[in-house]
Amino acid sequence: MTVSFKPPAIPLRALDALDWAPRFGKLPEKFYTRLAPTPLPEPYLVAFNPDAAPLIGLAPGEESRADFASFFTGNQAFAGSSPLAAVYSGHQFGVYVPQLGDGRAISLGEVVGSAGACEIQLKGAGRTPYSRSGDGRAVLRSSIREYLCSEAMHGLGIATTRALAITGSDQPVIRETVETAAVVTRLAPSLVRFGSFEFWYHRRDAEAVRQLADYVIREFYPEFEGAEDRYPLFLREVVRRTARMIAQWQAVGFMHGVMNTDNMSILGLTLDYGPFGFMEAFEPGHICNHTDEGGRYAYNMQPQVGLWNLYALGQALVPLMEPEIIEAELKTYDAQFDEVMNGMLRAKLGLASPHDDDHLLVNELFGLMAESHADYTLFFRTLSGLHAADAAGDAPLRDLVINRERFDAWAVSYRRRLTLENSVDAQRSVLMNANNPKYVLRNYLAEVAIRKARDERDYSEIENLRKLLSRPYDEQPENAHYAALPPDWASGLEVSCSS
Ligand code: AMP
Ligand code: MG
Repeated sequence: MTVSFKPPAIPLRALDALDWAPRFGKLPEKFYTRLAPTPLPEPYLVAFNPDAAPLIGLAPGEESRADFASFFTGNQAFAGSSPLAAVYSGHQFGVYVPQLGDGRAISLGEVVGSAGACEIQLKGAGRTPYSRSGDGRAVLRSSIREYLCSEAMHGLGIATTRALAITGSDQPVIRETVETAAVVTRLAPSLVRFGSFEFWYHRRDAEAVRQLADYVIREFYPEFEGAEDRYPLFLREVVRRTARMIAQWQAVGFMHGVMNTDNMSILGLTLDYGPFGFMEAFEPGHICNHTDEGGRYAYNMQPQVGLWNLYALGQALVPLMEPEIIEAELKTYDAQFDEVMNGMLRAKLGLASPHDDDHLLVNELFGLMAESHADYTLFFRTLSGLHAADAAGDAPLRDLVINRERFDAWAVSYRRRLTLENSVDAQRSVLMNANNPKYVLRNYLAEVAIRKARDERDYSEIENLRKLLSRPYDEQPENAHYAALPPDWASGLEVSCSS
């Protein structure tokens, strides 16, 4: 008999009756500053994500209330919430910055939801003691990008913070041009970062490092609590989750853009969506963040940056374990990464079991794609339709590359490999389609939604994309145009750290 596990249903609640259960705010006061969001004039609802509502136990329909936007802009306080901004530091582009912190995000506290306690954070809710020269705001453009991408990543099966809503206000916000303000409601079990630990280590406060580690272990890694070697076990698990997350990024062609250690989640969640991008014309060294001139966070750098960042975390954990133990845990990264990456590459190619020469097949494929600047998503999705027995139907794939002879030669070895494991077309394409998304958040798709929202106050495309990207592996024939190559006008789009 199989028993399917269903989490106990939690009662769904009205907006002003959420089940607040403070958690991070129970740490000593030095970990944060308590303060309320700064109101924005006449807020309105831009987007609401019903898929995320259960995470905070919110009853359906509550988003229609007249005061919804006011609550989620921070103008109106939830009874039971205890707003705060957390302190952290971090390595930005390799340089240690001793003081960062939530400069524009304010956490309202945790509520009990369908997946346990969930932190609610309003990003763009005003200045905090950690704002430095910033205005504490986020613009509508970047808020739409964060909202859509976090939900797209969730749809892809990659661990991430979630997004519940966007609210907007006509209050002007100055970036390269004058834009308007918005607030994204972010949800996550915790928003503690590598940089949260670095802050205390570099201030030589070993006791605070321990308090924070004990808190994170107790709340999020309870399986290690009480174990004598809980700190090494905790670090090993952070290494494992980070390696897995980055391998998944590579597999779908996601580029974070700003992998500073303050943007690295201690839970292995994709965190802080800024100048991210999905690989389109394949180029291993592609840099999605226009501000990243040196290419520190280029696509093919991400795996090693993940390890670099873990070293920064490991350093901060020196008060808790012997350096040799930390080193040994960090050394598990490469094997963890390779295992997930190789498994995902096999799945992307529809291969059932590993074979010694697979790396040759994969390397040649990536070389071929790079030479042609083949569209990453479209190429892999189209590959799912290849027939193992004959090349007569290869035209859609050959059309995506320039060097057709090179493709044909590769296809011969790929077919040989498929025959070796008696691959059945129908089964293989099911496996491949479950691993090669048809739809990703291409920059131009986000840009269309942003322009409609900004220029016409038409928010419908945000919702269209959210729905589309919640099922990225499904065929969705009615939405096939969203899988097309970017239009010519999109070639000039640039994304930077400005948000
Ligand atoms: P990010 O690059 O968005 O991860 O931000 C890096 C740091 O700058 C974090 O401490 C942010 O809170 C802070 N920050 C970014 N933008 C602003 C802003 N407009 N106002 C205040 N702080 C900001
Ligand atoms: Mg950040």
